[in-house]
Amino acid sequence: MRTQVGIIGAGPAGLLLSHLLHRRGIESIVIENRSRGYIEARVRAGVMEHWVAELVDEIGMGERMRREGLVHEGIEISFSGGRRRIDLKALTGGKSIMVYGQQEFVKDFVAARLAAGTPIRFEAGSVSVHDLGGGSPAIRFTDSDGALRQIECDFIAGCDGFHGICRPAIPDLAIFERSYPFAWLGILAEAAPSSDELIYSSHDNGFALHSMRSPELTRLYLQVAPDEDIAEWPDDRIWEELQTRLTQDGGWRLNEGKVLQKGITPMRSFVCETMRHGRLFLAGDAAHIVPPTGAKGMNLAAADVLVLSRALVAYYESGETALLDAYPAACLGRIWKAQRFSWWMTSMLHVFPDQDEFLRRIQRAEIDFVTGHEAGARALAENYVGLPFDA
Ligand SMILES: Cc1cc2nc3c(=O)[nH]c(=O)nc-3n(C[C@H](O)[C@H](O)[C@H](O)COP(=O)(O)OP(=O)(O)OC[C@H]3O[C@@H](n4cnc5c(N)ncnc54)[C@H](O)[C@@H]3O)c2cc1C
Repeated sequence: MRTQVGIIGAGPAGLLLSHLLHRRGIESIVIENRSRGYIEARVRAGVMEHWVAELVDEIGMGERMRREGLVHEGIEISFSGGRRRIDLKALTGGKSIMVYGQQEFVKDFVAARLAAGTPIRFEAGSVSVHDLGGGSPAIRFTDSDGALRQIECDFIAGCDGFHGICRPAIPDLAIFERSYPFAWLGILAEAAPSSDELIYSSHDNGFALHSMRSPELTRLYLQVAPDEDIAEWPDDRIWEELQTRLTQDGGWRLNEGKVLQKGITPMRSFVCETMRHGRLFLAGDAAHIVPPTGAKGMNLAAADVLVLSRALVAYYESGETALLDAYPAACLGRIWKAQRFSWWMTSMLHVFPDQDEFLRRIQRAEIDFVTGHEAGARALAENYVGLPFDA
């Protein structure tokens, strides 16, 4: 098999890249090691920055998102027994966020790619990349029928997430990382959201987040220890702790419902430099991970592939390689700003195990400043809806 761009990974990064390239007449094949059913049911991120929702519209994919997604013009922060709202729209000149589950985004893009005839090879086994430094790199894998296949490409996009095979294929990477001394226990519940907007709560027991995926589904998170055993958290205990941490202002209760999914996610910040080796380009979680507090993971993946698609279009239209050469530098400025924001939100809102009362009071003062002064609120709002791209 031969294609112009071989894409490894059918997550948001790989699918969006394939779609952007297709619109400009560039062929791709997507190789995914999971089944279609699995990736379409995998509940992860749910907040799209303003520009991502606009991009989805521009490329003709916004119909279901506009119908079923929820536009939020603010978020709330709960602390010290009260709750304050950050008015994203007023503080950013009219921008908002779109709450639309990552799994819905994946479903929409899988359907569009298949309808357009782009091959997606699901359940590919033993995926590997070869000849990255030469003019025609190759992807090898075992197809779902057990046959060994090879795809020769002009370029390979490594969109295979944090545990993929592309990043380890790059020699001499510089790695920058932080682990946090806590994790998030997340549930998806069959319950109507209890508020129209996301609520971030800084409580002495630990952080909690009220979020949603649809008018019928609530997504809720609790800060827990990094080695927490999920078996220690029966549904009743989860609801009780969520009620404690999220209903600080009294007079308001969380809607409870059947827990459909629950899991524990470690918190990590990670960036690798560089994001390119020969004809292999990394994008999305393959190159960087953020703690989810800033809601940046899926948005950074979209930003990387937008930049990469423009570089590939320039190459195919005029043979120009300058944008391909500039790809890592063009992405890393935005990636580090999102890392800083995610680290800052995480540090401000979580209780650290070794934290004394001095630091707890500093955190409260910071939340008070951010929610009570326009300059602080504006900085949060601009980062939250998505910073503009560098020229
Ligand atoms: C449990 C969890 C919860 C999260 N919650 C949030 C959240 O609330 N908010 C937020 O902003 N972000 C969240 N994230 C992060 C967000 O989901 C990611 O940033 C986003 O999915 C990145 O998209 P991606 O396409 O780069 O990577 P992925 O979505 O990871 O996609 C990579 C794809 O590559 C496939 N793959 C992996 N290895 C191979 C291989 N060897 N061969 C072929 N295919 C391969 C994978 O199956 C996957 O389909 C969460 C992540 C996790 C893991």
